[in-house]
Amino acid sequence: MKYIDEFRDPAKAKKLVEEIHKLASGMFPSTPLRERTSPVAERSRSQRSRREHTRSQPLQIMEFCGGHTHTLFKYGIESMLPDTIEMVHGPGCPVCVLPMARVDDCVAIAEQPGVIFTTFGDAMRVPGTRKSLLQAKADGCDVRMVYSPMDALAIARKNPDREVVFFALGFETTMPSTALTLLQAHREGLKNFSLFCNHITTPATMRAILTDPDLRLDGFLAPGHVSMVIGAQPYDFVTRDYHKPLVITGFEPLDILQALWMLVKQIAEGRCEVENQYARIVPQAGNTAGLNAIHEVYETREHSEFRGLGNIGDAGIQIREAYAAYDAEKKFGIPFDAAPFDSAQGAGSLKCAEVLRGVMKPWDCPAFGKECNPQMPLGALMVSPEGSCAAYYAYGKLAKRS
Ligand code: SF4
Repeated sequence: MKYIDEFRDPAKAKKLVEEIHKLASGMFPSTPLRERTSPVAERSRSQRSRREHTRSQPLQIMEFCGGHTHTLFKYGIESMLPDTIEMVHGPGCPVCVLPMARVDDCVAIAEQPGVIFTTFGDAMRVPGTRKSLLQAKADGCDVRMVYSPMDALAIARKNPDREVVFFALGFETTMPSTALTLLQAHREGLKNFSLFCNHITTPATMRAILTDPDLRLDGFLAPGHVSMVIGAQPYDFVTRDYHKPLVITGFEPLDILQALWMLVKQIAEGRCEVENQYARIVPQAGNTAGLNAIHEVYETREHSEFRGLGNIGDAGIQIREAYAAYDAEKKFGIPFDAAPFDSAQGAGSLKCAEVLRGVMKPWDCPAFGKECNPQMPLGALMVSPEGSCAAYYAYGKLAKRS
């Protein structure tokens, strides 16, 4: 297939949905899920199921990436799946995992005299404890939305008397572009450009999810754009250490459906492998130039606190000492102090942390669609286009399906 509409072909989608239903009905042969009652009967059924590759619990499949969540809802894919497959929405939205304290740090940098603070648009409205970057802009700070870190570099060239900071955030998808921009600034000898680094790595985040006692996952759909950079090998631990199958997939409806079919087929056949549905984009070994730039500029932090995920060793990224002159954290004296977990986002009635980890759905949060909506977001999951609350709201999933 060559053109985008071919990846949205209803006839092919229907065929894939039928195949998924066939596979699922083979795994849940005779007993409707609602008839499961006694724990003892359930246990013996589950032992029998393991022997026969049949199941007594719905399959729980996590789509790690917020982009996949949006495709699932935009094209109504979730509602086409059998009841025996439940999609669990993962934390793959870089804005959503950003702790409030880091937003506060952004605002503190933007408030420094002479600073031009540049960022992608979806980070502008993420609430901090005092204000968002958008509110800081309204209060007179020079906060500018850019489409690329190279735009920020162009602003730095044009404003040699100002300090220009780019808010570097995202998983491995955006790391090569920020690293290459820093290297370009270094080559040009620009002294007024720096990155405020909040990148996060996908494999370490997946490991944190796999060790979460509240989650019972049967497999992963892995993000295609991240994998385009890192390749397939970094996911090997998921199958080797945790025995969960994983399929790397793209973002069109047929990508997702084919990946789901591949994943359910693995489970039905008792296999556990890393498979690559998105081979038209994702090379097995990743993007060498991108990986070289990442390794040149960045290293992992020992401790990093992320919203909803807590402290994940090796997930956070910092700028290497060799490039400290381009590190806004050092330039502006911002300590990366493993900011404490966002109580306002994780405790009380708001369920951002639980939704982020896939333990709850957006409609389980009492504020969903009421006090928290896209016009007045209380949490980052309602701000970012990749947030699951924004996806549920945008596509009318305002209440649990019966
Ligand atoms: S609805 Fe708002 S407050 Fe509730 S979990 Fe989603 S983003 Fe957080």
